[in-house]
Amino acid sequence: MSFDRKLKGILKVRYRIKVKTGLHIGGSKESIEIGGIDNVVVKIPRYEINGKELRNVPYIPGSSLKGKVRSLLEWVEIPEDKGKPIALEWGGEPCQCGKCNVCKLFGVHKAKNIEEPEPVRLRFEDFYPTEETINMWERVLEVGFTELKTENIINRIRGNAEHPRHMERVIPGSVFEGYITMRVFEGDGYALFELLDKGLRMLEDDYLGGSGSRGYGRVEIIKPDKVIWKELPEYKEQEIDYAKIEDKVFKK
Ligand SMILES: [Zn+2]
Repeated sequence: MSFDRKLKGILKVRYRIKVKTGLHIGGSKESIEIGGIDNVVVKIPRYEINGKELRNVPYIPGSSLKGKVRSLLEWVEIPEDKGKPIALEWGGEPCQCGKCNVCKLFGVHKAKNIEEPEPVRLRFEDFYPTEETINMWERVLEVGFTELKTENIINRIRGNAEHPRHMERVIPGSVFEGYITMRVFEGDGYALFELLDKGLRMLEDDYLGGSGSRGYGRVEIIKPDKVIWKELPEYKEQEIDYAKIEDKVFKK
């Protein structure tokens, strides 16, 4: 049956991501501005904050956040008729069923194989550093907005360090801010929002970016006190308590 439920409104939640250990979300080699770094972090070439224009500022791409949260949730979603997590269903690829809550929130992987996919509920914005974070970087870092960490491989026989490589990282204490927006349709249950919330909590016990098994990428997700709810047909912006999302958005 095709999807025929009306759009009820848009829920906008502004989260903060606090970096607790060095964060490395890889960027492209072309953006190397200092010679000799083999592992740069992703940056935007130009960033404006409060009238100040900055160059090459690290950020957290919405795609990185979305992909990570989705991959974590695919380990907890178990379809009733299956008995094993959807992470194990598709040979390592994202879920392609088009029916589960992960597909509803994040979209169906290879959607063209599904005849009538449901609309995707979530939009992840890029997350940018807060003004306090920019000020902190300018205060404590000598060059640019990142640290450069040197890592070695220990030779098993000689015991000495070899093949140093240089990892660029965002330093602990940095805070990034951005919106996750949810399209809510008539009949959508609070379970959908709860699943997103669970994914973000799971992320706090996992890692963002690369080298997580070596201590990188621990983050804390800071929820706002207030969120924005724009209900149709008026589409008027109203501020509601985060704690009241279930009552004000999903019940009725
Ligand atoms: Zn699915």
